Amino acid sequence: MNHSILPKYVGEQTKAVHAGERPDPETCASSPNIVMSTTYTVTADTAFSVEEMNENDTWVYTRWGNPTIRQLEDKLAALEDAEVAVACASGMSAISTLLLHLLKAGDHAIVSDVAYAATSEMTNELIPNLNIGITKVNTSDLASLEAALRPNTRLIYIETPCNPLLRLTDVKAVAELASRRHAKLAVDSTFATPLATKPLELGADFVIHSLTKYLGGHGDALGGVILGGKTDLLPLRKKTAIRLGGTISPFNAWLIMRGIATFPIRMRAHEENALKIAAWLEQHPKVRRVIYPGLPSHPQWELAKRQMKNFSGMLTFQTDNGKTAARVLAERLKIIHYAVSLGHHRSLIFYLNTADLLQTTFKFATPSQLESWRQFAGDGIFRLSVGLENAEDIIADLEQALEGV
Ligand SMILES: *Cc1c(COP(=O)(O)O)cnc(C)c1O
Repeated sequence: MNHSILPKYVGEQTKAVHAGERPDPETCASSPNIVMSTTYTVTADTAFSVEEMNENDTWVYTRWGNPTIRQLEDKLAALEDAEVAVACASGMSAISTLLLHLLKAGDHAIVSDVAYAATSEMTNELIPNLNIGITKVNTSDLASLEAALRPNTRLIYIETPCNPLLRLTDVKAVAELASRRHAKLAVDSTFATPLATKPLELGADFVIHSLTKYLGGHGDALGGVILGGKTDLLPLRKKTAIRLGGTISPFNAWLIMRGIATFPIRMRAHEENALKIAAWLEQHPKVRRVIYPGLPSHPQWELAKRQMKNFSGMLTFQTDNGKTAARVLAERLKIIHYAVSLGHHRSLIFYLNTADLLQTTFKFATPSQLESWRQFAGDGIFRLSVGLENAEDIIADLEQALEGV
């Protein structure tokens, strides 16, 4: 039997279970081995520089490539329908590798004005310090995106749904704009996951995921990935990723691969729970506003239905006096953990205060950017990552905790 070639036509669940994995050739072990070795015995003709490395060479050094990491990469490439996946030590490692690979001094990039906090902070300071121009734009607004393009714009970087607002960007429309203006498009699709949206099919050049979130799914391993075509990704791996050295631990790669086996099933359960909880929160007297792409009340519901095959488990809600409410919830919640991060089997909640975030992370340049933030977040939001517990138990936990607000 040949288990190393999965037929092309198989479905998402089959890919999640089998893609990339091969039984160990020596023992025929059905579950993949973890190869923790950093080095490999090689012949005396082996090149000492990665410059000489070819894609199908034998293993030399784990920062260059590792069989366990490669199995994870092949599984991710199959799930995203990408030619190549480059796994990294964390989502931020994937993002910094991509930015440092594509951009050089004198280039310009457009970055979503609301993105993951570390992405926002890195593109506020670290990247501009390299003499790379960055313009922050509300990428949901195509007119401002187009107006921000310059002749030297190399990259448009978007996040949809964006963290933490759950505001969407139309990937297809931005991809058309990017290709007309000869810029690359990168999409952080961590919140959507490959089950909901396939940005490469919609015309994007690169997809980023924090594997720490839904793909790993269990809150026990950091990881990240960049996906795209061979012509972009093979040089990215060789010239940049290997040298920057943000290599994922083979153990984490193995844990994430095991997590991915149940990923499509988990996503359906996350969505089912989130729909129930969002609807329940929406009618709660102490809740002022709920934002969830799976609710008709989402300001971009039409786009959500068109672009997301699964609405995922992330929602936000607002109450009066959010900061005080956050203290009460952190104290009273019994099942939901008051903690950052998301996409785990455990439900997680965290309060994001508008005034604080505008100081540290999102430094809006225009009144309309601030207005869009306020339209989605008011003075602050509770970001709830709905886990895989029973929906009734999550609701009961929120109900008893909200009584104290
Ligand atoms: C968490 C997250 C990241 C960063 O991932 P790490 O694995 O924590 O480095 C990037 N983008 C989004 C949307 C995220 O939620």
